[in-house]
Amino acid sequence: MTTTEPSRGEETAPTGRPMCAYDLGFEAWRRELVANGVAEVHAAALFRALHRPVGPFASETASFSPPLRRWVERRLVDDHRYFQPPGHVVQDVASSDGLTRKLLVELADGARIETVIMGYPGRFTACLSTQVGCAMGCGFCATGQGGFGRHLRPAEIVAQVWHAQRQLQARGVEGLRNLVLMGMGEPLHNYDAVLAALRILIDNRGVGLAPSRITISTVGVIPGIRRLAREPEPFNLAVSLHAADQAERLSLIPVAARWSLTDLRAACLDYVAETGRRIFFEWTLIAGRNDTPKQAEQVIAFLDGLESHLNLIPLNRTDGFAAQASGRAAADAFRRTIQAAGIPCTIRQRRGLDVAAGCGQLAGAATAEATAN
Ligand code: SAH
Ligand code: SF4
Repeated sequence: MTTTEPSRGEETAPTGRPMCAYDLGFEAWRRELVANGVAEVHAAALFRALHRPVGPFASETASFSPPLRRWVERRLVDDHRYFQPPGHVVQDVASSDGLTRKLLVELADGARIETVIMGYPGRFTACLSTQVGCAMGCGFCATGQGGFGRHLRPAEIVAQVWHAQRQLQARGVEGLRNLVLMGMGEPLHNYDAVLAALRILIDNRGVGLAPSRITISTVGVIPGIRRLAREPEPFNLAVSLHAADQAERLSLIPVAARWSLTDLRAACLDYVAETGRRIFFEWTLIAGRNDTPKQAEQVIAFLDGLESHLNLIPLNRTDGFAAQASGRAAADAFRRTIQAAGIPCTIRQRRGLDVAAGCGQLAGAATAEATAN
């Protein structure tokens, strides 16, 4: 397993790849402008322009003040991509459910990631990737089956929102309200870049998403959970549990060897105590593996005394994992047992399965039956 820990800081650009304007938080952007002779007073308006999902920022130079134009032009000579949101959408597939779309985004080095847009009445949620591939190796997940590629830079995370908003705008709809970091990768394994990206995305001078509408999902990276508890922003935390028995959990999640269930529970208790926020737990329901009455009792014991909500996700099909999703009756019985213990519990609506956009199906590959709109 890769253990790369990117350094702290807003301007992290892991592995030395060039930064671009979308890597910069507002303060860094302001400093950059001032250092290049642009009056500080313009920083907010220009930051807003940068994050508006319209044509490239640098194409508006005609309306720019001379110092700004000079800086933009110099930057473009150094790096013609500096003012472009990284990546371009190489495939945009609509699910037949009419509510889900999957964007396949190709990055400058040819790596491909996926961003899913899910429509709900009056609002949209984007599901973002945080890494190319994933190092955690969960056998039931298509991303894990493919192994680790690399971390995404802040800009590559931020730009997924730009691409999603542009896609919505092209369809004449707006209202991207929620983000879930449940696409490809383990967000807390790329902690600094993820936090830097989220801070850019919640800045009211730019995209201005509400932190309380952003959910970070982790396989259970304990140092990251502990760090997140101390951050000032009220992001939501989701923990992928899948089993409340160490041996069973280890059979599904190899990194449970490093971050045991006992330590995970302690970290979750501390998180709730420190933040006052509940934790969302995720449980992929696999027939005969983790949907039995005994398993339900084990999760009730695990969640006892923890402010929580349990989300059940029937297993989605992937090529590398032979097991089946729990049947309707087993899933309902599991849910009812949890609810009877006073724990909020829901079965997550299944989305986008026909275009492999469901949880755990993202492999960064093109979908065969692409539709244009
Ligand atoms: N790495 C993070 C976030 C990305 S995975 C994590 O593991 O939490 C997002 C969610 O999809 C996780 O809860 C994960 O367990 C779930 N998932 C993965 N593969 C799945 C599959 N084949 N079917 C259903 N859910 C799956
Ligand atoms: Fe990585 Fe999450 Fe998939 Fe596990 S479930 S391999 S942590 S993306």
